[in-house]
Amino acid sequence: MRYVSTRGGGEPLGFAEVLLDGLARDGGLYVPETWPELPPLDELRGRSFAEVAVEVTWPFVDGGVDRASYERIVTDAYATFDTPEVCPVLPIGSLPSGAPLHLLELYRGPTLAFKDVALQLVGWLFDHVLAERDERICVLGATSGDTGSAAMHACAGLERVDAYILYPAGRTSEVQRRQMTTLEADNLCAVEVPGTFDDCQDLVKAAFADEAFRDEVHLAAINSINWARVMAQVTYYVTSHLAVSPDGGPVTFVVPTGNFGNVLAAWVAARCGLPVDRLVVASNRNDVLTRFFSTGTMAIAEVVPTTSPSMDIQVSSNLERLLFEVLGRDGAAVAELLGSFRADGTVSVDETVLGRLRSEFDCGRLDDESAASVIRSVHDRTGLVVDPHTAIGIGVAELLDAEGTWFDPSVPVVCAATAHPAKFPDAVEAAVGIRPELPARLADLFERPERFERVASDLGALEALVRARRG
Ligand SMILES: *Cc1c(COP(=O)(O)O)cnc(C)c1O
Repeated sequence: MRYVSTRGGGEPLGFAEVLLDGLARDGGLYVPETWPELPPLDELRGRSFAEVAVEVTWPFVDGGVDRASYERIVTDAYATFDTPEVCPVLPIGSLPSGAPLHLLELYRGPTLAFKDVALQLVGWLFDHVLAERDERICVLGATSGDTGSAAMHACAGLERVDAYILYPAGRTSEVQRRQMTTLEADNLCAVEVPGTFDDCQDLVKAAFADEAFRDEVHLAAINSINWARVMAQVTYYVTSHLAVSPDGGPVTFVVPTGNFGNVLAAWVAARCGLPVDRLVVASNRNDVLTRFFSTGTMAIAEVVPTTSPSMDIQVSSNLERLLFEVLGRDGAAVAELLGSFRADGTVSVDETVLGRLRSEFDCGRLDDESAASVIRSVHDRTGLVVDPHTAIGIGVAELLDAEGTWFDPSVPVVCAATAHPAKFPDAVEAAVGIRPELPARLADLFERPERFERVASDLGALEALVRARRG
């Protein structure tokens, strides 16, 4: 498989280059040159998650990693989950129209959020590809919480990777911070920065823009624009489809999203032949995506803090990959569209393009109060406690169901459960009066010693820290 940039520049690259590069040189994101066909679903039934993952993702990796190594990498990546099913599916009754409702539990990995599913695989892929090339990299990322802890767990102990994750002091949940600061591996460095997530993000961008530094330490990105992460997420849309649709009929997926990474993977699954009825984009109050999918206009707005902080985003990077497709894979058109978005803070697509988007996607938004009432009603109905991100998805499914958006109530609806409720205990307790407990393997999280570095919000200070630790 070869990859091209969504802005049309440069020569096509192989999987290993795309894995290590992250962002294309022309500022675009990498996408496969062609979309492969999924294997027939009947051939995947009854097989383990890791086996399905290899079959589904192999065409994307082919040429970059040999097959025997890839099978071992995938098996190792998913051995860290706390259930052999890796991403189990749980029936939770039905919507008022009668459509069967299911939860896709994506939080059974080491850091209790869906990002583990992709990042555990990416960590092992880095390790393998770097050993083959005899190279080292320095992973640098900013986090508002979930990405950072998942990335650090994925890189812990890797011989050829050093990881620096910047987080805003006092602005992550305590569980999120401790998941970063209590890891013991010497190749990891949690870095506390005074300020906001955007300050952390600006520092990371500045470090990547300093080309001399970038080359000196071999900076690599691990954020959700990395194609390998999107690819890895395709697997659980296939496994959940197998679980809820024994006859292979269409399924509707509802995905709480901010950066458009997770729901893009569902679109990729559909593009490769998975029978999908609707894809639903579920937003919190930071609803740039919902506004775009309903009006065709994307306009930057202020980020407001919500009880689902991992979706508090106003620029959805991964949308660029979908725009590339709906604009007929015209890189120049994508570059122009995003150029004017950056210049004016707003951009619109025409009726034809909006029609193409609407033919596959529905959308909806929920505020914090409604999300809290969803947490309560799901608990009353099923005894299950869901996290605020997951509640946004379920609530939007209920909204669209009430509007009659789904005409065929026999189509099963799968809602992505993106985090364990214990990751956001305060919001859950406020909603339902129950303080969710951490799983046993994390029960001593609050007793473990914390290790972190502190740097000022200043590029020189960050670079000095990285150089000093490299010795
Ligand atoms: C990252 C995250 C999201 C948003 O996912 P995107 O694919 O980046 O939009 C939703 N829920 C949780 C719990 C997350 O950690």
